[in-house]
Amino acid sequence: MHVRVRYAPSPTGLQHIGGIRTALFNYFFARARGGSFILRIEDTDRERYDQAALQDIYDTFDWLGIGWDEGPDVGGPHAPYFQSQRLELYRRCAEQLIERDLAYYAYDTPEELAAMREAQGHKGGGYDRRGRNYTAEQIADFEARGIAPVVRFKGPLDGETVFEDMILGRVSKKNRDITPDPVLLKSDGYPTYHLANVVDDHQMQISHILRAQEWIPSAPLHVRLYEAFGWQPPVFCHLPMVMGKDGQKLSKRHGSTSVIEFRRQGYLPEALINYVALLGWAYDDKREFFTTQDLERLFDAARINKAPAVFDYRKLEWFNGVYIRNKSDDELEALMTPILMQAGIVSDPMSEGERSILRGALPLIRERMKYLTEAPELVRFLFTDQLQYKPEELIPKKMDAAGTVELLRVARELVNGFEQRSDEENEERFRARAEELGTKMGNLMMPLRIAVTGSRVSPPLFGSMRLIGEQRVHQRIDTVLQLLQSQGGTDE
Ligand code: GLU
Repeated sequence: MHVRVRYAPSPTGLQHIGGIRTALFNYFFARARGGSFILRIEDTDRERYDQAALQDIYDTFDWLGIGWDEGPDVGGPHAPYFQSQRLELYRRCAEQLIERDLAYYAYDTPEELAAMREAQGHKGGGYDRRGRNYTAEQIADFEARGIAPVVRFKGPLDGETVFEDMILGRVSKKNRDITPDPVLLKSDGYPTYHLANVVDDHQMQISHILRAQEWIPSAPLHVRLYEAFGWQPPVFCHLPMVMGKDGQKLSKRHGSTSVIEFRRQGYLPEALINYVALLGWAYDDKREFFTTQDLERLFDAARINKAPAVFDYRKLEWFNGVYIRNKSDDELEALMTPILMQAGIVSDPMSEGERSILRGALPLIRERMKYLTEAPELVRFLFTDQLQYKPEELIPKKMDAAGTVELLRVARELVNGFEQRSDEENEERFRARAEELGTKMGNLMMPLRIAVTGSRVSPPLFGSMRLIGEQRVHQRIDTVLQLLQSQGGTDE
């Protein structure tokens, strides 16, 4: 069987984790089986349609580096791939069902439907199928009143609908429990999701439907529609839910879920893809790291889980850190440069001097970043002498201003000529001196670190100082000494 799968988003909101999980599973399934991956835009809900959401679909997958074989922008044998441009097809299909007495025009006014719902109370049994029984006279009357009909499906009233889901196994539903006579075509000529989805999956020769489990309640209706049309349904494969750690369906409450937000926060697309591929799928019980190319080869739908997947922000963060660590210097430079430009830390374009500092900083910070967005704070002190010293942070814990001044003076002297010594030799010098003074090496280093970097935590100090140069290091120490003295440190 030639595998053809689709991702069929509705452009009503931003792409989120659940959406890209569905897209990626389809994409990897297609690639691993030598099949085709199709993007179809399900834009028949004109009220909720959002142009920005459509652009977000393109931007998201462009950033992720995932493309489709057929779709609105690339075309293909089943174009157009926007449902809003296929209205004629849906209308013809609805008419086919009417001709076979498997669908009918229903003329209810909104007021009548509201009254019906009211009479049903809050339990709401759905449409009471009254439209099946209107007489020719009643219909003529509706028409005379200018009421535009919808087309409703005439579903069977008894029996059972059964299908085999690739993941869930046998799924069955009593026909009487399927939505009663759902609308297929709205009075404005637009199809509902159910009709358009079924018609397009058939017409586009979709072989497998991989979609979120929240669509499982719709699947029996879809099966009935395929049968009404006399078409063979695709293989259904409903993907496990994605939950937050509290066991609730993943939502904004759990933190950011839109892909654009992850991008903004400094995640790498390859880390996100890797992690999302594991939301409900496993290669075996050990391996966790997969490049996109690995997944294109190794993805096997037989290994999709039934049980819900839990989205763990911590784990994603960890993946991201590992992916950042594994970047080459060139890749990391390219990723960081625009971020540093935006933060105003380097100029645009970056000068040669700035570039050489950045290159020198990469080995110092690579291990320390979980997000690319941490880069500006980590390296700012290398590029500017205008450090914001917070008075309360100038003095290391358990020390006073006078003690800090004293140790900083010692450190200033120890720093002399540091560029000519190795990091080990410099450290040794500090250690030996600390011992002589009967204090901890940390106590001697901390005031220096704060003076040079403006912070208690920083990349390795001697490596950083090399990038700054002895003269500027001395200047920074002097600035801090002055600050401390004005705060009451001794001034001999
Ligand atoms: N347009 C639906 C959605 O937004 C597609 C569901 C399906 O894949 O059948 O998720």
